[in-house]
Amino acid sequence: MTNVSQRMLNLGTARSEIREAFAFAQARAAEVGAENVDDFSIGNPSVPAPATVAEAVHKLVDAIDPIKLHGYTPAQGDGQARGALADDLNRRFGTNYTADNFYLTAGAAGALCCALSALSCPGDTFIAFAPYFPEYKVFVESAGAELVTVPADIEDFQIDFAAFDQALTPNTKGVIINSPNNPTGVVYSEATIQKLAQVLTEKSKEYGHAIWLISDEPYREIVYRDTPLPWVPNYYPNTLVCYSYSKSLSLPGQRIGYVLVPPQAEDADIVYAAVCGAGRALGYVCAPSLFQLVAAECTGQTADIEIYHKNRDLLLNALRDMGYTCAQPDGAFYLFPRSLEPDARAFCERARKYDLVLVPGDSFGCPGHVRISYCVPTEQIQRALHKFEQLAAEYK
Ligand code: PLP
Repeated sequence: MTNVSQRMLNLGTARSEIREAFAFAQARAAEVGAENVDDFSIGNPSVPAPATVAEAVHKLVDAIDPIKLHGYTPAQGDGQARGALADDLNRRFGTNYTADNFYLTAGAAGALCCALSALSCPGDTFIAFAPYFPEYKVFVESAGAELVTVPADIEDFQIDFAAFDQALTPNTKGVIINSPNNPTGVVYSEATIQKLAQVLTEKSKEYGHAIWLISDEPYREIVYRDTPLPWVPNYYPNTLVCYSYSKSLSLPGQRIGYVLVPPQAEDADIVYAAVCGAGRALGYVCAPSLFQLVAAECTGQTADIEIYHKNRDLLLNALRDMGYTCAQPDGAFYLFPRSLEPDARAFCERARKYDLVLVPGDSFGCPGHVRISYCVPTEQIQRALHKFEQLAAEYK
C-alpha cells in the first residue's frame, strides 16, 4: 500500500458526526420524501446573499479588465479592498485600522489556520472553551500545537473562569473564543470579555510572554439583541480577529474572510508578517480575487437575518414550553438544548425514529446536549414541532 500520512488519511476518511447526520437525512429523504425529514444537522445559511452581492459582481465584471479582475492579487489582498474593510470597522468600533492590518483569507477556516500557524512554536498549546467548533483541534494540530479544552459552564455557556485558570500554563500561546457561538448561539457578555482580558493580561505578565486571543467571529453580524457586541480588541489588544463572510453575507462557497492584526498588538508588524508567511506556507497564494472586491463593496450589509431571528423565537419558545432546557441563544443560528437523557447520542438516535435529525454535543466537547441548526425554512420548524413534542413525551 502507498505510504501516505496516517494523520491526513485519518482526517480524510473519518466522517464528522455533523456530516454523518446530514448523510443520514439525505438518505432518508431519498427513501421517504424530503418533506417528511426534518434535518437540523448542518450550518449552511438558508437565507440568500443580499441583492447587493449580485449587483457588486455585475458591476465589477462590467467595469474591470478581466485579466486584472480574475488575476492574482498581492498575497495579503487587494489594497483598496483592505482599506474599505478598515474604514468600515473604524466607523463602527472607533478604531484606527489601516489596510496594512488586514490579511484576506479563504474564509474563517483559512484565517484561523494562518493565525494559528503564525503564532505556533514547538511546545505551544492553545485553549478553547467547550462546546467548541470541532475543526479547532484539526487546525491547531496542523499548526504543530496542542489543543487544550476547558469544560463548559452549562448554566449559561459563559466562561468557567475557575476551570480556565487550571488550563493555563506557561506553554499557553493563545486562547480561541467564538462569540456568537457555534454550537450554543450564546453571545459572551461584556463582563465575560472584561474578565477574560484581565486574566490574560495578568497571566501574560506572570509568564513573561503574550497570550494571544484568537477571536473567531463568523457570526459577528448575526445577533438578536439590542446591546452591541463588545469589539474584542478594544478590551484586549493582543487579539487576532478571524472573520468570514460565509454567514453574514451567506457566501460560504466563495471562501472569503480575513485575519486582522490590530496595530495596538504587541509586535504587530512581526505577527502580521508571520501571518503572511503562514498563508504562503499553507499555499493559499491569495484570497479569491473577485470576492475580495465584493466584500469591500458590501461593507455593512448582511443577508436578511430577521428570518433567522423569527426561526429562533419560534423554536426556542416552543422547546422551552415543551420542557427542554436551553441557554439563551442571542446570535448565530444554533440552539444547544440539553438532551432529555444523559447520552446525547442515544437521544439523537431516538429522534431519528421521527426523521428528526439533530447532532449530539459530544463532537463539540459537550456531552448531554444536542445542536439544532435552525438555518432552515421556517415551515420546516413549524412542521417539526410536533416531532420534538413526541420525543419529549417519551421521557415523561
Ligand atoms: N468557525 C466557526 C465557529 C464556524 O462555525 C465555521 C463554519 O461553520 C468556521 C469557523 C469556518 O467558516 P468559513 O466558512 O468562513 O471557513
